[in-house]
Amino acid sequence: MRKQIAAANWKMNLTYDQGEALLKEIIGAGIQLSSNQQALFAVPFPYLAMAKAAVKGQTNFDIAAQNCSNKKSGAYTGEVSVEMLQSMGIGYCVIGHSERREYFMESNKVLAEKVNICLENNITPIFCCGEALQVREESAQNAFVQQQLEESLFHLTPDQVQKVVIAYEPIWAIGTGKTASTEQAQEMHAHIRQVLAGKYGEAVAGNISILYGGSVKANNAAELFACPDVDGGLVGGASLLAQDFVQIIKALK
Ligand code: PEP
Repeated sequence: MRKQIAAANWKMNLTYDQGEALLKEIIGAGIQLSSNQQALFAVPFPYLAMAKAAVKGQTNFDIAAQNCSNKKSGAYTGEVSVEMLQSMGIGYCVIGHSERREYFMESNKVLAEKVNICLENNITPIFCCGEALQVREESAQNAFVQQQLEESLFHLTPDQVQKVVIAYEPIWAIGTGKTASTEQAQEMHAHIRQVLAGKYGEAVAGNISILYGGSVKANNAAELFACPDVDGGLVGGASLLAQDFVQIIKALK
């Protein structure tokens, strides 16, 4: 059974103390997750060790990095390798967030390399995809997202692709307060699953968690997560507020 996941993406927000206090408050809420549910916190690199310690002993609470290098190691000043993440016990890494694609020119090809290096090091990539507003206005979103999947994931074996988590994040909904409707979310998630099934078969596609991201809030998480092909969310703004993120975790199926 595929996992239902609530993943916080702190982006480049919060001081160390604020981050620690936020985690403490969320964990203090005493949420009990079932075996197919997972809460994740994608925190800035300098907070990974603190965050890992903060969730220690909490069943199905874990920490993710927000990015990693596509290179193994060496003279790449300022970069962080997957091997480093793995050596700290980090099990997840967000790959290809639209902000990385837009501001750091990350291409589908580079993202394929990042997915590979994560999988080689037993780190689960949370692979982000999603279209800009203009693409949706041209009704070209299905083909656009399909191409992102094909160019970054379709070289994987069925075993490998089942280890990837996909996050569909329409760019027009990220940080804008404009959420995709449940119909829009379900339609795209079903499309993504169908594209995966076309390449890998229904059983493999059915095992892959597909998260929705884009202005998920405490008051809309439950209806979004209730969609049959929506397996939780990747949450930016609302994940910085303890009570809101607690509600979002509790909205998991
Ligand atoms: C995100 O950062 O991935 C995101 C979806 O942000 P927000 O929830 O603020 O739209």
